[in-house]
This record gives sequence, structure tokens and C-alpha cells, in this order.
Amino acid sequence: LAVNPAQICDRTINLTPEQQHYLHRVLRLNQGDKFIAMDGRGHWWLAVLEAQETGLIASITEEIAVNRELGVEVTLMAALPKGNGFDEVVRQATELGVASIVPVTSDRTLLKPSAQKVDRWKRITAEAAEQSERQFVPTILEPISFDLAVKDCGQKYRYICVARGDNRHLWDCLISLEPPQPPLVRGEQELEPPQPPLVRGEQEFDPAFVGAVPPCPPPGGELSIVIAIGPEGGWTDGEVKRAIEFGFEPVSLGSRILRAVTAPIVALSLVGAAFEK
Ligand code: SAM
Repeated sequence: LAVNPAQICDRTINLTPEQQHYLHRVLRLNQGDKFIAMDGRGHWWLAVLEAQETGLIASITEEIAVNRELGVEVTLMAALPKGNGFDEVVRQATELGVASIVPVTSDRTLLKPSAQKVDRWKRITAEAAEQSERQFVPTILEPISFDLAVKDCGQKYRYICVARGDNRHLWDCLISLEPPQPPLVRGEQELEPPQPPLVRGEQEFDPAFVGAVPPCPPPGGELSIVIAIGPEGGWTDGEVKRAIEFGFEPVSLGSRILRAVTAPIVALSLVGAAFEK
């Protein structure tokens, strides 16, 4: 069950009415039954249901060490397809281990999505992360223009998928990436690499819940990549040119033209094949 860290106090999870309904009526759990709670920021806990006068609550009994995240932090920058096609992209990208999704408006994108759509995508990532038993819920960024998105990529390796041309295949690029540096070894003793911060997204992790088991580190460690996928009509030549100026490499996903909703799934499957731990 996905819970917000703000719901947890003194190792008790204050379940919302919807969560109580889901656990009791849908999953048919009763007092004393156990379930796994996750905060979407690297923590999993084993919790036991308890009945109180006011309804059901859950007590955390132990922390569970698990890491199902990819060995690379991957950002999907995707131009918005027509209709509700992006819902499925968001769901499947989450299942495939994406760390964040940037919906972009492009020269050939018709509409800027409404705030309600963005909220729906956030809900879909939470559901899909829970379903695929991930430790992190991917971040959905606010939709921005393609030009702003390509300028703002930090230290990531950057790829723009272009349906035509004789560009290098994304797979060849991925397998030639430098792996993260292994931990330094001094004599017999390994020195641990610096731990990534416990914080992801806007809200800080509550240090009161750091127990014996450290949280799963965020996906990726040292390696970050961004993959840009165009809309139904494809990127314009101008967009590809501008992306290249900002350090993107144009890449191919093979000789067949994939739909705008298929291409992100293929690209992320290749990333998973290259970087699954
Ligand atoms: N008629 C468009 C064109 O020629 O660019 C086709 C666009 S395709 C339906 C939508 C997006 O998926 C493309 O902009 C590209 O990012 C990605 N894509 C689809 N097939 C691809 C392929 N074989 N290689 C690389 N990218 C591909």
C-alpha cells in the first residue's frame, strides 16, 4: 500500500478512509493481518492492521530491505500524444523503472495538458509503482516546452529518438556508456561510495523512521540519462537541430517506425536490458 510519510506518526500509519476501504473491502484484510506499506521514497515496511473505534489503523512492525530500482536514473522526455494515450505511457514507463517523466509540448503537439491530466498521471505513477513493487514513485514534472526541457538536463547523457535517418541505435549508445565507478578498495577493506541523499521530490523523508534497515537508494547512482520521444508527427528538423546543440545525440530505435506511445516503451525496455542489476 502506498502511503504518504505525513500519515505516519510513532510507527503508526493513519489510514485514509479510501485506504481502509481498499485493505478491508477489496483485499479482505482484517485486524491482525499484515501488509506491506511503501512511501515511494525508498522505504518498505511490514505493517499489521488494528481496529480502533474510529476505524482501522496500521502499526509498523519492521522495515524491509529491498531494491528493485534500475542501475541508471532515466528521465523520459515525451511529447504528448493525442487523447489519453499518455496515460498508458506513464503507467508502462513506471513499470519499466523510469525515474522521472517530463511531458513536453513541441512544434507538432496540439494542446497543453490540463492540471487535472497531470494529477491523473501522478496517480497513475503511484498505482503503477505499487503494482510493480518499486521502491520509488517516479516524478511527473509540470509540462514544459521542448526548448526549455532540452536546455535543462543537468549532467545527464542525452538522446533524442528520431524515426528516420541512419543514426546510431540507442542500444549501441547505452552499452558503450561508462559504468559508475566501483567503490575504492584499500587493502582488504572496501570503502563505501558516498550515500545518495534520502530526499526525493519536494517532501523530506522523516528521519524518525530511519531504522536498522537503510532505505533503498534512488535509481541510478552515478549514471543519469534522458531520452526524448517525439509526437505522432515526429520532431521537426529545427527541434532535432536545437536538441543536438544542447548535447543530445540523435538515435534510432530500429528500422520500423513506432507509434509515439510505443517508442518510449521500446526505449525504456532497452535501458532495462542494459542496466538491470
Ligand atoms: N512520421 C514521424 C516521423 O517521421 O518522424 C513518425 C513519428 S513517430 C510516430 C513518434 C516518435 O517516436 C518519433 O518522433 C520518435 O521520437 C519515436 N520513434 C518512432 N519510431 C522510431 C524509430 N524507429 N527510431 C527512433 N525513434 C522512433
